Amino acid sequence: MASPRLRAVLDNIPAYRPTDGVYDAVPARPLSANESPDDPLPELRAAIAAAATGINRYPDPGCAGLTRALARRHHVTEDRVLVGAGSVALLQALFQAVGEPGAEVIYPWRSFELYPVLADLAGVRSVPVARPGLASLAERITPDTRLVLVCNPNNPTGAFAGGDELRAFLDRVPPTCLVVLDEAYFEYVRAPGARSGLELLGTRPNLVVTRTFSKAYGLAGLRVGYLVGDPAIVEQLGKVKLAYSVSSVAQHAAITALDLADRLLRRVDATVAERTRLRDALTAGGFTVPDSQANFLWLPLAGRSAEFGRWCTDAGIAVRTFDGEGVRVSVGGGGDNDAFLAAALRWRADGG
Ligand code: PMP
Repeated sequence: MASPRLRAVLDNIPAYRPTDGVYDAVPARPLSANESPDDPLPELRAAIAAAATGINRYPDPGCAGLTRALARRHHVTEDRVLVGAGSVALLQALFQAVGEPGAEVIYPWRSFELYPVLADLAGVRSVPVARPGLASLAERITPDTRLVLVCNPNNPTGAFAGGDELRAFLDRVPPTCLVVLDEAYFEYVRAPGARSGLELLGTRPNLVVTRTFSKAYGLAGLRVGYLVGDPAIVEQLGKVKLAYSVSSVAQHAAITALDLADRLLRRVDATVAERTRLRDALTAGGFTVPDSQANFLWLPLAGRSAEFGRWCTDAGIAVRTFDGEGVRVSVGGGGDNDAFLAAALRWRADGG
């Protein structure tokens, strides 16, 4: 029987199932999604409960209160800020905004697995460029390149391009090409001399920085992200983004999270300290662990990745396996890091 005709490109996009199994039987130790391990602060829960009383009404489609709070936090004007239902929604808007036949998007690879998917969905050609180094990325820009996307720190490797390298790269991107810095993990960066793209916006109208409330602010379940860029670009992206997509509960929670930023970011300090402890212990145990400036570590186990991933699963620990490349483990809380460490060291002792 004939079936409805959908876009052929969908056949080539792998289903996004990073959490297969995770939600049927929540693993004892969830270290696969780079979430905040900390329980929501009581003030946040109270703000969410209070916002729930108004859910018979539509949310503010312009997210005015949250936009104002973000503008204040980052010392920019409100017309530079756009809020979305998670930063993925804003990345999708960016891809769609440049998506027309012949357009191409380039990004370093290995990086966030959603980038090629968003490119396919938007109908743009995607050009993954082997890391490392932003200089090699700049060399790959062609007249068809409409968007250069850099995940900084990079998911899943944790690599971070610092101030000078970043500035030199940005200076090489032509003004007709958008450059997007995905800073989902920026709050975890401790590299000396680190610069956020937010500090470099002023002189570069083609630069857009995306951030999220899903990691350091602990609101992954509510779906809120934002971008900061040139007002003219922000206005156009606002037309692509679905109106009403950020719920009123999410908007209120994010405003409250910004009010609580000092306390939430102290929790990030604890995660960073755990990152160092875990990396040192793994390295001492014989693992190769590159420096990470995010809330996860990357174990480049190449051909042994799947085996190690299964070992962790069997030990009740969810990690992310990139078959043939490596395993990404989030820095968690409670005893989860120790449980992972013990499992990893057992694997080594067992001949891994
Ligand atoms: N960018 C990167 C690099 C990520 O790792 C993630 C989440 N894993 C996102 C964006 C999306 O985050 P969210 O949609 O929750 O803001």
